Amino acid sequence: MSYSTSLDFSILQNQLTEGEFTTDPQELGRCSGDKWHAVHQPDAVALPHNEESVCKILRFANTHKIPVTPRGAGYGYVGGCVPVRGGIVLSVERMNQVLEIHKTDFVARIQPGVNTKVFQEMVEKENLFYPPDPASRADCSLGGNIATNAGGPRCLKYGVTRDYVLGLSVVLASGELVKLGSRTHKNKTGFDLHRLFVGSEGLLGIVTEATLKLLPLPQDRACLSVGFNDSRAATDAITTIFEAGILPCALEIADEFTIAAAQKRTGSEKLRDCRAHLIVELDGAKSSVQSEIAELEEKL
Ligand SMILES: Cc1cc2nc3c(=O)[nH]c(=O)nc-3n(C[C@H](O)[C@H](O)[C@H](O)COP(=O)(O)OP(=O)(O)OC[C@H]3O[C@@H](n4cnc5c(N)ncnc54)[C@H](O)[C@@H]3O)c2cc1C
Repeated sequence: MSYSTSLDFSILQNQLTEGEFTTDPQELGRCSGDKWHAVHQPDAVALPHNEESVCKILRFANTHKIPVTPRGAGYGYVGGCVPVRGGIVLSVERMNQVLEIHKTDFVARIQPGVNTKVFQEMVEKENLFYPPDPASRADCSLGGNIATNAGGPRCLKYGVTRDYVLGLSVVLASGELVKLGSRTHKNKTGFDLHRLFVGSEGLLGIVTEATLKLLPLPQDRACLSVGFNDSRAATDAITTIFEAGILPCALEIADEFTIAAAQKRTGSEKLRDCRAHLIVELDGAKSSVQSEIAELEEKL
């Protein structure tokens, strides 16, 4: 697709409010890469405050065949938000409101620019739990998590972002706004269209709002660190855990190479004689976490 870089952006600028559109070189530079090494400068950066502005930007870009690259917090590792064909970077960073946390429906409605860790801490204050835990959660956005279907070690018990998206508002490339899914945990009728957008890296549309499933916050959490003579013994231990009918919220196995790297980095002597290592994280009711930890200490 080709477009004219001499295109007069003022037509679009006039439709938006102050500060929602810029060609300031500093902003172009700020929005040209992610945490990977690829970088490409866009021709303009759009910073919409609301859904209506997102629709206007995409309608304009569609009419003039200008590439648009959505951007969350820019903490991706694969160049997804890098505007490789120039055009407009559409950053949702200013759409960063938590619209609703409903304690009894166990749902939250959020705008895409909300920081993941900030959101998790907000719901935890209400005794609620939003499990997806990408290691970048202190820096990334929920919109970016949805677009990449982000997940971390807790996926073992709780799944990944896709498992918590109940509904989405998405603006399509044409500028049309569509609302998909619902706000009920059990929504079994019809196509699962909202799920199609989860993990689509912004290729199908721009997420402007999401309804997320929440869980009750587990009462307790505990961690077990176990060293082994070899990797085989560590993997056998995983089988032992599952055979005991225990489902940890996270399991992380490290081999000899990884332990050596960690020792070099931290200077710790703790795992000096270990050739494999397992971290087992448990959560749930206090009594069950305590009894499961005791059982695993005995069995592993
Ligand atoms: C140190 C580090 C650790 C990481 N650990 C993990 C991990 O444990 N698990 C994991 O899954 N990932 C991990 N990542 C990758 C990254 O953090 C995640 O992919 C995260 O979801 C990106 O969110 P973001 O807001 O930074 O999105 P961005 O990087 O800004 O964008 C990511 C993609 O989503 C699209 N996008 C962003 N917002 C929207 C929107 N509103 N609508 C449509 N498309 C949009 C972009 O176009 C791009 O394709 C890690 C990255 C780093 C740097």
